Amino acid sequence: MTTAVIGAGIIGTTLAYALRRRGRDVVLIERDGPGKGASYGNMASIAVTEFMPASRPSIWKQIPGWMLDPEGPVRVRPAYMPKLTPWFLRFIAASRPSKLRALEAQGAALCQRVYDDLNPLLKETGLEGELSEEGCLSLYSDEAEFKADREHIEILERFGFPHEVIGRQAIKALEPELSDKIGLAVLFPQNRSMKNPYQLVVKLAEGFAALGGKIERGEVVGFERGEAMQAVLLKDGRRIAAAEVVVAAGVHSAKLAKMLGEPIPLETERGYHTQIMAPGIAMKHSIIWPARAFMVTPTAGGIRVGGTVEMAGIDAAPDFRRSKVTVKRAKEALPNLRCEDYTEWMGHRPAFPDTVPVMSASARTKGLYYATGHGHLGLTYAATNARLMADLITGAKPPIDMKPYRVDRF
Ligand SMILES: Cc1cc2nc3c(=O)[nH]c(=O)nc-3n(C[C@H](O)[C@H](O)[C@H](O)COP(=O)(O)OP(=O)(O)OC[C@H]3O[C@@H](n4cnc5c(N)ncnc54)[C@H](O)[C@@H]3O)c2cc1C
Repeated sequence: MTTAVIGAGIIGTTLAYALRRRGRDVVLIERDGPGKGASYGNMASIAVTEFMPASRPSIWKQIPGWMLDPEGPVRVRPAYMPKLTPWFLRFIAASRPSKLRALEAQGAALCQRVYDDLNPLLKETGLEGELSEEGCLSLYSDEAEFKADREHIEILERFGFPHEVIGRQAIKALEPELSDKIGLAVLFPQNRSMKNPYQLVVKLAEGFAALGGKIERGEVVGFERGEAMQAVLLKDGRRIAAAEVVVAAGVHSAKLAKMLGEPIPLETERGYHTQIMAPGIAMKHSIIWPARAFMVTPTAGGIRVGGTVEMAGIDAAPDFRRSKVTVKRAKEALPNLRCEDYTEWMGHRPAFPDTVPVMSASARTKGLYYATGHGHLGLTYAATNARLMADLITGAKPPIDMKPYRVDRF
Protein backbone atom coordinates (compact mmCIF):
# COMPACT_ATOMS: atom_id res chain seq x y z
CA MET A 1 0.00 0.00 0.00
CA THR A 2 1.43 3.39 -1.00
CA THR A 3 1.11 6.58 1.04
CA ALA A 4 1.36 9.73 -1.07
CA VAL A 5 2.41 12.86 0.82
CA ILE A 6 1.63 16.03 -1.16
CA GLY A 7 4.09 18.86 -0.54
CA ALA A 8 7.77 18.68 0.36
CA GLY A 9 7.88 21.60 2.76
CA ILE A 10 9.15 21.02 6.28
CA ILE A 11 5.79 19.49 7.25
CA GLY A 12 5.42 16.99 4.37
CA THR A 13 9.10 16.05 4.22
CA THR A 14 9.41 15.36 7.95
CA LEU A 15 6.22 13.31 7.89
CA ALA A 16 7.29 11.36 4.79
CA TYR A 17 10.55 10.56 6.57
CA ALA A 18 8.74 9.42 9.75
CA LEU A 19 6.36 7.19 7.78
CA ARG A 20 9.21 5.65 5.81
CA ARG A 21 11.01 4.96 9.11
CA ARG A 22 7.92 3.02 10.15
CA GLY A 23 8.21 0.88 7.04
CA ARG A 24 5.56 2.51 4.87
CA ASP A 25 5.93 2.68 1.10
CA VAL A 26 5.93 6.48 0.74
CA VAL A 27 5.98 8.79 -2.25
CA LEU A 28 6.55 12.49 -1.60
CA ILE A 29 5.08 14.64 -4.39
CA GLU A 30 6.40 18.16 -4.85
CA ARG A 31 5.75 20.77 -7.50
CA ASP A 32 8.83 23.00 -7.09
CA GLY A 33 11.52 21.00 -5.27
CA PRO A 34 11.82 20.32 -1.52
CA GLY A 35 11.82 23.33 0.78
CA LYS A 36 11.10 26.07 -1.75
CA GLY A 37 7.78 27.18 -0.18
CA ALA A 38 7.27 28.86 3.21
CA SER A 39 9.87 26.50 4.66
CA TYR A 40 12.58 28.17 2.58
CA GLY A 41 12.90 31.48 4.32
CA ASN A 42 11.27 31.35 7.72
CA MET A 43 12.94 32.95 10.73
CA ALA A 44 14.51 29.60 11.68
CA SER A 45 13.23 29.74 15.24
CA ILE A 46 12.08 26.77 17.29
CA ALA A 47 9.67 29.17 18.88
CA VAL A 48 8.13 27.04 21.62
CA THR A 49 6.99 30.12 23.55
CA GLU A 50 4.94 31.56 20.70
CA PHE A 51 1.93 29.21 20.61
CA MET A 52 -0.62 31.70 21.91
CA PRO A 53 -3.62 32.40 19.67
CA ALA A 54 -3.32 35.56 17.60
CA SER A 55 -7.00 36.21 18.29
CA ARG A 56 -6.43 37.25 21.91
CA PRO A 57 -7.89 40.73 22.51
CA SER A 58 -4.54 42.26 23.49
CA ILE A 59 -3.43 41.57 19.89
CA TRP A 60 -6.52 42.11 17.78
CA LYS A 61 -7.50 45.32 19.54
CA GLN A 62 -4.28 46.81 18.17
CA ILE A 63 -5.03 45.70 14.61
CA PRO A 64 -7.11 48.74 13.50
CA GLY A 65 -4.29 51.06 14.68
CA TRP A 66 -1.67 48.96 12.94
CA MET A 67 -3.70 48.95 9.75
CA LEU A 68 -3.72 52.75 9.64
CA ASP A 69 0.05 52.73 10.06
CA PRO A 70 1.72 51.86 6.71
CA GLU A 71 4.72 50.62 8.70
CA GLY A 72 2.58 48.63 11.17
CA PRO A 73 3.25 44.95 11.87
CA VAL A 74 -0.07 43.80 10.32
CA ARG A 75 -1.27 45.02 6.95
CA VAL A 76 -4.40 44.08 5.03
CA ARG A 77 -4.37 45.15 1.40
CA PRO A 78 -7.70 46.98 0.94
CA ALA A 79 -8.55 45.07 -2.27
CA TYR A 80 -8.26 41.80 -0.34
CA MET A 81 -10.55 42.82 2.53
CA PRO A 82 -13.81 41.37 1.07
CA LYS A 83 -12.16 37.98 0.48
CA LEU A 84 -10.70 37.96 3.96
CA THR A 85 -13.96 38.74 5.78
CA PRO A 86 -15.17 35.13 6.43
CA TRP A 87 -11.74 34.19 7.82
CA PHE A 88 -11.64 37.34 9.92
CA LEU A 89 -15.08 36.64 11.40
CA ARG A 90 -13.85 33.19 12.49
CA PHE A 91 -10.75 34.89 13.90
CA ILE A 92 -12.93 37.17 16.04
CA ALA A 93 -15.04 34.16 17.08
CA ALA A 94 -11.83 32.55 18.34
CA SER A 95 -11.33 35.44 20.78
CA ARG A 96 -13.96 34.43 23.35
CA PRO A 97 -12.21 33.96 26.72
CA SER A 98 -13.21 30.28 27.09
CA LYS A 99 -12.15 29.56 23.51
CA LEU A 100 -8.83 31.33 24.08
CA ARG A 101 -8.06 29.22 27.15
CA ALA A 102 -8.71 26.06 25.13
CA LEU A 103 -6.59 27.24 22.18
CA GLU A 104 -3.71 28.16 24.47
CA ALA A 105 -3.77 24.63 25.93
CA GLN A 106 -3.85 23.09 22.44
CA GLY A 107 -0.83 25.11 21.30
CA ALA A 108 1.03 24.46 24.56
CA ALA A 109 0.41 20.69 24.29
CA LEU A 110 2.32 20.72 20.99
CA CYS A 111 5.11 23.04 22.14
CA GLN A 112 5.71 21.03 25.31
CA ARG A 113 6.57 18.03 23.10
CA VAL A 114 8.77 19.79 20.56
CA TYR A 115 12.22 18.69 21.75
CA ASP A 116 11.02 15.16 22.61
CA ASP A 117 10.27 14.80 18.90
CA LEU A 118 12.89 17.08 17.35
CA ASN A 119 16.01 15.85 19.16
CA PRO A 120 15.66 12.17 18.12
CA LEU A 121 14.89 13.25 14.54
CA LEU A 122 18.00 15.44 14.33
CA LYS A 123 20.09 12.70 15.93
CA GLU A 124 19.04 9.91 13.60
CA THR A 125 19.48 12.09 10.52
CA GLY A 126 22.88 13.36 11.72
CA LEU A 127 21.59 16.94 11.77
CA GLU A 128 22.14 17.83 15.45
CA GLY A 129 24.65 20.47 14.36
CA GLU A 130 21.86 22.39 12.59
CA LEU A 131 20.33 23.45 15.94
CA SER A 132 21.84 26.46 17.75
CA GLU A 133 22.96 26.25 21.36
CA GLU A 134 21.49 29.59 22.37
CA GLY A 135 17.96 30.76 23.06
CA CYS A 136 16.03 33.88 22.18
CA LEU A 137 15.93 37.28 23.88
CA SER A 138 12.66 39.17 23.97
CA LEU A 139 13.51 42.87 24.23
CA TYR A 140 11.82 45.75 26.03
CA SER A 141 12.99 49.34 26.17
CA ASP A 142 11.41 49.91 29.59
CA GLU A 143 9.02 48.63 32.27
CA ALA A 144 5.98 49.95 30.39
CA GLU A 145 6.79 47.86 27.31
CA PHE A 146 7.48 44.85 29.49
CA LYS A 147 4.12 45.29 31.27
CA ALA A 148 2.36 45.48 27.91
CA ASP A 149 3.74 42.00 27.11
CA ARG A 150 2.92 40.66 30.57
CA GLU A 151 0.01 38.54 29.32
CA HIS A 152 2.39 36.57 27.09
CA ILE A 153 4.70 35.82 30.02
CA GLU A 154 1.76 34.87 32.24
CA ILE A 155 0.58 32.30 29.69
CA LEU A 156 4.09 30.82 29.58
CA GLU A 157 4.16 30.67 33.37
CA ARG A 158 0.83 28.87 33.40
CA PHE A 159 2.24 26.15 31.15
CA GLY A 160 5.67 25.99 32.78
CA PHE A 161 7.89 27.23 29.93
CA PRO A 162 11.25 28.36 31.35
CA HIS A 163 12.26 31.99 31.01
CA GLU A 164 14.41 34.50 32.85
CA VAL A 165 13.97 38.25 33.18
CA ILE A 166 17.32 40.04 32.87
CA GLY A 167 18.51 43.64 33.14
CA ARG A 168 20.75 45.86 31.02
CA GLN A 169 24.11 44.50 32.24
CA ALA A 170 23.18 40.86 31.69
CA ILE A 171 21.74 41.74 28.27
CA LYS A 172 25.01 43.38 27.25
CA ALA A 173 26.98 40.38 28.52
CA LEU A 174 24.88 38.05 26.35
CA GLU A 175 24.66 40.25 23.25
CA PRO A 176 27.13 43.15 23.29
CA GLU A 177 25.78 44.57 20.01
CA LEU A 178 22.39 45.40 21.52
CA SER A 179 21.63 49.09 21.96
CA ASP A 180 21.57 50.77 25.36
CA LYS A 181 17.93 51.58 24.58
CA ILE A 182 17.11 48.05 25.68
CA GLY A 183 16.49 48.19 29.42
CA LEU A 184 15.01 44.75 30.01
CA ALA A 185 14.82 41.38 28.31
CA VAL A 186 13.36 37.93 28.82
CA LEU A 187 15.59 35.02 27.91
CA PHE A 188 13.76 32.01 26.48
CA PRO A 189 16.44 29.32 26.65
CA GLN A 190 14.35 26.77 24.73
CA ASN A 191 13.76 29.00 21.70
CA ARG A 192 16.79 27.84 19.79
CA SER A 193 17.13 28.19 16.04
CA MET A 194 18.08 26.16 12.99
CA LYS A 195 21.10 27.30 11.01
CA ASN A 196 19.46 26.98 7.60
CA PRO A 197 15.76 26.04 7.37
CA TYR A 198 15.91 25.41 3.60
CA GLN A 199 18.93 23.12 3.84
CA LEU A 200 17.20 21.31 6.69
CA VAL A 201 14.33 20.33 4.37
CA VAL A 202 16.77 19.35 1.60
CA LYS A 203 18.75 17.15 3.99
CA LEU A 204 15.61 15.54 5.43
CA ALA A 205 14.46 14.82 1.87
CA GLU A 206 17.83 13.21 1.19
CA GLY A 207 17.46 11.17 4.39
CA PHE A 208 14.00 10.08 3.24
CA ALA A 209 15.36 9.04 -0.18
CA ALA A 210 18.25 7.18 1.48
CA LEU A 211 15.67 5.11 3.40
CA GLY A 212 14.09 4.13 0.07
CA GLY A 213 11.41 6.86 -0.04
CA LYS A 214 10.44 8.11 -3.50
CA ILE A 215 10.27 11.78 -4.46
CA GLU A 216 8.19 12.69 -7.51
CA ARG A 217 8.40 16.13 -9.07
CA GLY A 218 4.93 17.18 -10.20
CA GLU A 219 1.86 19.25 -9.37
CA VAL A 220 -1.17 17.45 -7.95
CA VAL A 221 -4.27 18.62 -9.82
CA GLY A 222 -6.81 15.92 -8.98
CA PHE A 223 -7.67 12.73 -7.16
CA GLU A 224 -9.43 9.43 -7.73
CA ARG A 225 -11.51 8.29 -4.81
CA GLY A 226 -14.63 6.40 -3.94
CA GLU A 227 -15.31 5.75 -0.28
CA ALA A 228 -11.54 5.45 0.00
CA MET A 229 -8.59 7.15 -1.69
CA GLN A 230 -7.33 5.50 -4.85
CA ALA A 231 -4.92 7.76 -6.71
CA VAL A 232 -3.38 11.17 -7.10
CA LEU A 233 -3.38 12.84 -10.54
CA LEU A 234 -0.55 15.07 -11.71
CA LYS A 235 -0.67 18.00 -14.12
CA ASP A 236 1.61 16.20 -16.59
CA GLY A 237 -0.94 13.39 -16.90
CA ARG A 238 0.67 10.87 -14.56
CA ARG A 239 -1.47 8.87 -12.12
CA ILE A 240 0.07 7.73 -8.84
CA ALA A 241 -1.91 4.95 -7.17
CA ALA A 242 -2.18 5.59 -3.42
CA ALA A 243 -4.58 4.15 -0.87
CA GLU A 244 -3.41 6.78 1.60
CA VAL A 245 -2.94 10.46 0.77
CA VAL A 246 -1.69 13.22 3.06
CA VAL A 247 -2.37 16.81 2.06
CA ALA A 248 0.65 18.76 3.37
CA ALA A 249 0.86 21.44 0.70
CA GLY A 250 1.20 24.45 2.99
CA VAL A 251 -1.10 27.30 2.05
CA HIS A 252 -2.04 25.46 -1.18
CA SER A 253 -3.71 22.76 0.91
CA ALA A 254 -6.93 24.83 0.83
CA LYS A 255 -7.31 24.30 -2.91
CA LEU A 256 -6.70 20.55 -2.60
CA ALA A 257 -9.07 20.22 0.38
CA LYS A 258 -11.79 21.94 -1.64
CA MET A 259 -11.27 19.45 -4.49
CA LEU A 260 -11.64 16.69 -1.90
CA GLY A 261 -14.98 18.07 -0.71
CA GLU A 262 -13.65 19.27 2.64
CA PRO A 263 -13.15 23.06 2.46
CA ILE A 264 -10.93 24.56 5.17
CA PRO A 265 -10.57 28.23 6.19
CA LEU A 266 -6.86 28.46 5.44
CA GLU A 267 -5.36 31.87 4.64
CA THR A 268 -1.90 33.07 3.87
CA GLU A 269 -0.29 35.31 6.47
CA ARG A 270 2.44 36.60 4.24
CA GLY A 271 5.77 37.37 5.88
CA TYR A 272 9.08 38.80 4.74
CA HIS A 273 12.74 38.31 5.47
CA THR A 274 15.96 40.10 4.65
CA GLN A 275 19.02 37.86 4.65
CA ILE A 276 22.07 40.01 5.34
CA MET A 277 25.24 38.29 4.25
CA ALA A 278 27.79 40.73 5.74
CA PRO A 279 25.95 42.37 8.67
CA GLY A 280 29.12 43.75 10.30
CA ILE A 281 28.05 42.33 13.67
CA ALA A 282 28.10 38.93 15.34
CA MET A 283 25.18 37.57 17.36
CA LYS A 284 24.58 34.35 19.27
CA HIS A 285 20.93 34.66 20.29
CA SER A 286 17.95 35.38 18.17
CA ILE A 287 16.05 38.47 19.29
CA ILE A 288 12.48 39.65 19.13
CA TRP A 289 11.24 43.07 20.11
CA PRO A 290 7.48 42.70 20.65
CA ALA A 291 6.76 46.44 20.63
CA ARG A 292 8.56 46.83 17.29
CA ALA A 293 7.31 43.49 15.86
CA PHE A 294 10.47 42.16 14.28
CA MET A 295 12.83 39.27 14.80
CA VAL A 296 16.53 38.81 14.06
CA THR A 297 18.11 35.35 13.87
CA PRO A 298 21.77 34.49 13.37
CA THR A 299 21.78 31.94 10.53
CA ALA A 300 24.31 30.21 8.32
CA GLY A 301 25.46 32.91 5.89
CA GLY A 302 24.82 36.03 7.96
CA ILE A 303 21.79 37.15 9.90
CA ARG A 304 18.11 37.14 8.98
CA VAL A 305 15.71 39.96 9.82
CA GLY A 306 11.99 39.36 9.44
CA GLY A 307 8.48 39.39 10.72
CA THR A 308 5.30 41.26 9.89
CA VAL A 309 2.00 39.89 8.63
CA GLU A 310 0.45 40.93 5.35
CA MET A 311 -2.99 39.70 4.31
CA ALA A 312 -3.13 39.95 0.54
CA GLY A 313 -3.79 36.43 -0.76
CA ILE A 314 -1.53 34.00 -2.56
CA ASP A 315 -1.14 35.74 -5.89
CA ALA A 316 -0.42 39.41 -5.11
CA ALA A 317 3.14 40.56 -5.83
CA PRO A 318 5.42 40.99 -2.79
CA ASP A 319 5.73 44.47 -1.31
CA PHE A 320 9.34 44.61 -0.19
CA ARG A 321 8.78 47.93 1.57
CA ARG A 322 7.68 45.62 4.41
CA SER A 323 11.13 44.07 4.70
CA LYS A 324 12.78 47.49 4.63
CA VAL A 325 10.64 48.52 7.62
CA THR A 326 11.77 45.50 9.66
CA VAL A 327 15.43 46.23 8.87
CA LYS A 328 14.94 49.86 9.92
CA ARG A 329 13.47 48.65 13.23
CA ALA A 330 16.21 46.05 13.71
CA LYS A 331 18.78 48.86 13.45
CA GLU A 332 17.18 50.51 16.48
CA ALA A 333 18.15 47.44 18.50
CA LEU A 334 21.41 46.76 16.68
CA PRO A 335 22.93 50.17 15.82
CA ASN A 336 26.02 48.69 14.16
CA LEU A 337 24.01 46.47 11.81
CA ARG A 338 25.04 47.04 8.18
CA CYS A 339 22.63 46.15 5.42
CA GLU A 340 24.53 46.34 2.16
CA ASP A 341 24.84 42.79 0.84
CA TYR A 342 21.37 41.28 1.23
CA THR A 343 18.48 39.39 -0.37
CA GLU A 344 14.76 39.82 0.29
CA TRP A 345 12.09 37.12 0.34
CA MET A 346 8.35 36.74 0.90
CA GLY A 347 6.62 33.53 2.03
CA HIS A 348 3.15 32.25 2.88
CA ARG A 349 2.40 31.12 6.43
CA PRO A 350 -0.53 28.70 6.16
CA ALA A 351 -2.84 30.01 8.87
CA PHE A 352 -6.18 29.00 10.37
CA PRO A 353 -8.22 31.70 12.13
CA ASP A 354 -7.87 29.89 15.48
CA THR A 355 -4.04 29.55 15.18
CA VAL A 356 -4.13 25.76 15.75
CA PRO A 357 -2.97 23.44 12.93
CA VAL A 358 -4.97 20.65 11.33
CA MET A 359 -3.38 17.23 11.92
CA SER A 360 -6.18 14.90 11.12
CA ALA A 361 -7.79 12.08 9.21
CA SER A 362 -10.46 13.18 6.76
CA ALA A 363 -14.00 13.20 8.13
CA ARG A 364 -15.27 12.01 4.72
CA THR A 365 -12.82 9.76 2.87
CA LYS A 366 -10.97 6.70 4.14
CA GLY A 367 -7.21 6.91 3.67
CA LEU A 368 -7.18 10.71 3.40
CA TYR A 369 -5.28 12.89 5.90
CA TYR A 370 -4.43 16.56 6.36
CA ALA A 371 -1.31 18.10 7.93
CA THR A 372 -1.45 21.83 7.40
CA GLY A 373 -2.08 25.27 8.88
CA HIS A 374 0.93 25.38 11.19
CA GLY A 375 1.00 29.16 10.74
CA HIS A 376 3.90 30.94 12.41
CA LEU A 377 5.21 27.67 13.89
CA GLY A 378 5.59 25.21 11.02
CA LEU A 379 9.30 24.69 11.62
CA THR A 380 8.74 24.44 15.37
CA TYR A 381 5.94 21.89 15.03
CA ALA A 382 7.40 19.83 12.16
CA ALA A 383 8.89 16.93 14.13
CA THR A 384 5.89 16.80 16.47
CA ASN A 385 3.47 16.92 13.55
CA ALA A 386 5.40 14.01 11.97
CA ARG A 387 5.26 11.96 15.18
CA LEU A 388 1.55 12.55 15.74
CA MET A 389 0.49 12.11 12.12
CA ALA A 390 2.60 8.98 11.72
CA ASP A 391 0.81 7.60 14.81
CA LEU A 392 -2.60 8.44 13.32
CA ILE A 393 -1.77 6.94 9.93
CA THR A 394 -0.18 3.74 11.22
CA GLY A 395 -2.86 3.17 13.85
CA ALA A 396 -0.62 3.79 16.88
CA LYS A 397 -2.05 5.76 19.81
CA PRO A 398 -0.81 9.38 19.70
CA PRO A 399 0.58 10.61 23.04
CA ILE A 400 -1.84 13.57 23.13
CA ASP A 401 -5.53 14.03 22.43
CA MET A 402 -5.82 14.75 18.69
CA LYS A 403 -9.46 15.94 18.71
CA PRO A 404 -8.62 19.67 18.85
CA TYR A 405 -6.64 19.39 15.62
CA ARG A 406 -9.40 17.78 13.56
CA VAL A 407 -10.19 18.99 10.06
CA ASP A 408 -13.95 19.13 10.73
CA ARG A 409 -13.68 21.45 13.74
CA PHE A 410 -14.64 24.58 11.76
C1 LIG B 1 8.57 35.28 7.23
C2 LIG B 1 8.25 33.97 7.90
C3 LIG B 1 8.88 33.65 9.09
C4 LIG B 1 8.60 32.44 9.74
N1 LIG B 1 9.31 32.13 10.88
C5 LIG B 1 9.09 30.93 11.48
C6 LIG B 1 9.89 30.55 12.59
O1 LIG B 1 10.82 31.25 13.00
N2 LIG B 1 9.61 29.36 13.20
C7 LIG B 1 8.61 28.53 12.75
O2 LIG B 1 8.39 27.49 13.36
N3 LIG B 1 7.88 28.85 11.66
C8 LIG B 1 8.11 30.02 11.02
N4 LIG B 1 7.37 30.37 9.91
C9 LIG B 1 6.30 29.48 9.48
C10 LIG B 1 6.81 28.29 8.70
O3 LIG B 1 7.76 28.69 7.73
C11 LIG B 1 5.65 27.58 8.02
O4 LIG B 1 4.64 27.29 8.97
C12 LIG B 1 6.11 26.27 7.39
O5 LIG B 1 7.20 26.48 6.54
C13 LIG B 1 4.96 25.61 6.63
O6 LIG B 1 5.48 24.42 6.10
P1 LIG B 1 4.64 23.57 5.08
O7 LIG B 1 5.46 22.38 4.77
O8 LIG B 1 3.27 23.39 5.61
O9 LIG B 1 4.47 24.53 3.79
P2 LIG B 1 5.50 24.90 2.64
O10 LIG B 1 6.88 25.02 3.13
O11 LIG B 1 4.92 26.06 1.92
O12 LIG B 1 5.47 23.62 1.72
C14 LIG B 1 4.38 23.25 0.94
C15 LIG B 1 4.90 22.59 -0.32
O13 LIG B 1 3.81 22.06 -1.07
C16 LIG B 1 4.09 22.21 -2.42
N5 LIG B 1 2.82 22.17 -3.17
C17 LIG B 1 1.79 23.03 -3.05
N6 LIG B 1 0.78 22.65 -3.86
C18 LIG B 1 1.18 21.52 -4.46
C19 LIG B 1 0.57 20.65 -5.41
N7 LIG B 1 -0.67 20.88 -5.88
N8 LIG B 1 1.26 19.58 -5.86
C20 LIG B 1 2.52 19.33 -5.40
N9 LIG B 1 3.14 20.12 -4.50
C21 LIG B 1 2.49 21.20 -4.05
C22 LIG B 1 4.79 23.57 -2.51
O14 LIG B 1 5.55 23.67 -3.69
C23 LIG B 1 5.62 23.57 -1.24
O15 LIG B 1 6.94 23.12 -1.44
C24 LIG B 1 7.63 31.56 9.22
C25 LIG B 1 7.03 31.86 7.99
C26 LIG B 1 7.33 33.05 7.33
C27 LIG B 1 6.68 33.34 6.02
